[in-house]
Amino acid sequence: MSNSHISKSIYQLDVSPPEFLGQVAQDIKCDIAIIGGGLTGISTALSLGEKGYDVCLFEAGKIGDGGSGRNGGQICQGWSSGFEKLSKYIDSEFKKDMWQVGIEGPNLINERIKKYNIKCDIQWGYVHTAIHKGHMRYLEEYQKTFEAHGYSKLRALENKSLLFDYVRSDAYIGGLYDAGSGHLHPLKYLIGISNAAENTGVKIYTKTRICSIKTANNKNKLITKEGHVIRSKNLVICGNAYLGSVAPKQMRRRIAQVTSSVMATEPLSDSEIKRLIPSKAAIADGNTALNYFRIDKQKRMIFGGRASYLNRDPINVEADLKKRMRAVFPNLSNKKILQAWSGRIGITVNRLPDFGKISDTAIYVQGYSGHGVAFSQIAGSIVSDAITGREQRFNQLAKIQHLPFPGGPLRTPILALGMTWFKLKDYFKI
Ligand SMILES: Cc1cc2nc3c(=O)[nH]c(=O)nc-3n(C[C@H](O)[C@H](O)[C@H](O)COP(=O)(O)OP(=O)(O)OC[C@H]3O[C@@H](n4cnc5c(N)ncnc54)[C@H](O)[C@@H]3O)c2cc1C
Repeated sequence: MSNSHISKSIYQLDVSPPEFLGQVAQDIKCDIAIIGGGLTGISTALSLGEKGYDVCLFEAGKIGDGGSGRNGGQICQGWSSGFEKLSKYIDSEFKKDMWQVGIEGPNLINERIKKYNIKCDIQWGYVHTAIHKGHMRYLEEYQKTFEAHGYSKLRALENKSLLFDYVRSDAYIGGLYDAGSGHLHPLKYLIGISNAAENTGVKIYTKTRICSIKTANNKNKLITKEGHVIRSKNLVICGNAYLGSVAPKQMRRRIAQVTSSVMATEPLSDSEIKRLIPSKAAIADGNTALNYFRIDKQKRMIFGGRASYLNRDPINVEADLKKRMRAVFPNLSNKKILQAWSGRIGITVNRLPDFGKISDTAIYVQGYSGHGVAFSQIAGSIVSDAITGREQRFNQLAKIQHLPFPGGPLRTPILALGMTWFKLKDYFKI
């Protein structure tokens, strides 16, 4: 099997997204142009479409070709790098609301599934598992913080016997169950919200790569690879780690592209599933280079992990993931792997999302640092509010300070070195 970066995900083998309007074939004028047909771009488009705005979205390939159609499908609430880190940038009167923003992503997914009748194999329930006592202490603190903010969906799994009701692996000593997070088929969900956006009047163009972005004198001008010109009053850039050299400098410097990989096994029997994940919850372990896994509705183990900070296409992704899966579930050693694939994650230095302005009429959001399935939904709604004059949340989030990654040839080796240190910390349980 090919393990190259561009291998299709199992989701792309399951379903093929519609082409919608296909490639742009003429010059276009619109009120709001969006670049990127992933979860962020489509969520933004849907929020704007629901309010009746004139929106055109441009996607280089098919909907979901980026991280949104290649991820682990895990819906996690909260902030990617903890609320405390975020809190110091936020004005005190907005802290309560910003806490809520972290919780709203899963709720918005749920609302959209119901409102648009999206069949996307949703399953609620999530377990953060602990490998050592340090992780257990972290989870205790996590629970205290969430409960202090009124979140009541957590249950401490203080020992193996409690944990085994949810996930049965000797790799873990305990964990924390969260009934407010879960998992889904990310591409089915993305197609569902894309169809909903189209039904509100959003024009979705695919196979349309934007090769030039100019935003001057409050006028936005995009040029497609084929040379067609798109002019818009407002512009939202949602290309994340796939934007490449067309990204404005501010965006390019603030995220690094990291490769993560996932694989899908052949379907398991019901009795096997009961012996592995009786709760059917999604699981993520506390390692820095974390493993994340779940059993999907087709009964396949969807197992992900392995962040590559060297920005190379992973060599032999499948062998590496099999080794990781064997360490968690030795009984799955001989299972056939249906597909292994990789995708690009945009990470920021502080692991908090990067909301910003390129000009008064051009804004962007990127860098969810591996935590974007749920957050992209609420980010899209925040961006759509900002475009339509309700800027409070966007302005608060744009205050987060993002250091540029060290540039030049040393950029990726420095990242890799940093990651090695965190892996060693895990190993030695520091
Ligand atoms: C392997 C993997 C596993 C992950 N697992 C999880 C998980 O389990 N849970 C979780 O919460 N998060 C996970 N993530 C992260 C999550 O997938 C992302 O945060 C999220 O999908 C980001 O969505 P996005 O729309 O911002 O970006 P993307 O989905 O990357 O979309 C960007 C889109 O922009 C398009 N584009 C880029 N440049 C141009 C251009 N010039 N012209 C036109 N179109 C352009 C791209 O083709 C792409 O479709 C994972 C990511 C990966 C890669």
